[in-house]
Amino acid sequence: MTQTAPIRLISPTWIAPVIPAGVVLENHSLVVAGQHILALLPTPEALLAYPDAANLVLTEHIVTPGLVNAHGHAAMTLLRGYADDRQLMDWLNNHIWPVEAQFVDYDFVYDGTCLAVAEMLRSGTTCAADTYFFPDAVANAFSHNHFRGQVCMPVVEFPNAWAKTEDEHIHKGLQFRDNLVKNNPLLTTAFAPHSPYTVSDRGFERTLVYAEELQLPIHLHLHETSTEVGDAVKSRGQRPIARIHDLGLLSPLLQTVHMTQLNSAEIALLADNNVHVAHCPESNLKLASGFCPVGELRQSGINVAIGTDGAASNNNLDMLEEMRTAAILAKAVSQDATMVSAFDALAMATINGARLLGLEDTIGSLEPGKRADFIAVDLSDLCFQPVLNPVSQLVYAATGHQVSHVWIDGRHLLAAGQFTELDSQRIRANTRQWQHKISQFRKPA
Ligand SMILES: [Zn+2]
Repeated sequence: MTQTAPIRLISPTWIAPVIPAGVVLENHSLVVAGQHILALLPTPEALLAYPDAANLVLTEHIVTPGLVNAHGHAAMTLLRGYADDRQLMDWLNNHIWPVEAQFVDYDFVYDGTCLAVAEMLRSGTTCAADTYFFPDAVANAFSHNHFRGQVCMPVVEFPNAWAKTEDEHIHKGLQFRDNLVKNNPLLTTAFAPHSPYTVSDRGFERTLVYAEELQLPIHLHLHETSTEVGDAVKSRGQRPIARIHDLGLLSPLLQTVHMTQLNSAEIALLADNNVHVAHCPESNLKLASGFCPVGELRQSGINVAIGTDGAASNNNLDMLEEMRTAAILAKAVSQDATMVSAFDALAMATINGARLLGLEDTIGSLEPGKRADFIAVDLSDLCFQPVLNPVSQLVYAATGHQVSHVWIDGRHLLAAGQFTELDSQRIRANTRQWQHKISQFRKPA
């Protein structure tokens, strides 16, 4: 950090730094120097140490690290509500893939991602892992709005508007990495072979060669439904995770998504290889995909983060809601109400997401030296009273609508519920145009 970085104090009623775990600080101030967190101090001490610093007092607010959305398809906000209440393969084959074939291009992805960034910022997400076609459009939408993220390079067997073959996906992905991500401090990248049922063995092998050479993560939908697993057993004689293991992909660089179908041997295999899991509870519930055994995964020492998945299968990107769903669903699935506490859910949505992305030294907790990605949530409304436990109110009672302030890399992007930089009028106008086009295309159910 530079010596000339301006110092600012943020003084809320409560701070949940996430590390150390389970702690809530009262009457403390977060000291921010430029893009970094400098210290957390009792407010009287901070005021004495930095008498000239601007001090934002946030009464009855809780400050936490910015939320990390570990899996999504931002541009699919434009397909929110397009084809609800269908089985996953019917939803994909007969609805999502045809509408994507019709509309997905650079502009669709850029406009849809801007809409998603607006929604994520408004609801407290400061970093997202994104997987979609036209990663250059995703990266531009993120960076034009000063949003942090992992923008994946997709790999799929079927031809689409971005690339025709697996080799072309990999080639264009590497070009994208060279052009857009390398020099943007808020962006990282990963390979995203879509799933075992849309990528060939050769596609996985080629992806792995480049991922190992460049030390890039691999982001993969895996064991999303029982149909995926059953079909693989029928056609290949093995479960997808066994094939992925045989191909050599199980490692700390692997970010698996969904994982609703797991036996105990597979959980042990994931733990042995330090594989990460992005749990998407609302998408899994809405598509009736099955239940990720979050409690067992965590007890085995596996890092479990939380993602919203795309807005077409959720149907919002509200990570506060997703934390609540993750916590209460884990209790139901394990038949154990002690499973995934409110503090655990907050850690899953922050530091665990940062770990999955390889960013645990940069973001995910409020510690001196880390980047200043943090949010404030207003707990003053009557529906949060009495505030006996602010983290409980945050996880079990609040939604993204209560997020009042958001900072990414020290930049104040949402202030008292208003965007400071993002052009919401332009995003609204562009979205209306897409709404018109998509509703013309949509066939009656
Ligand atoms: Zn997904």
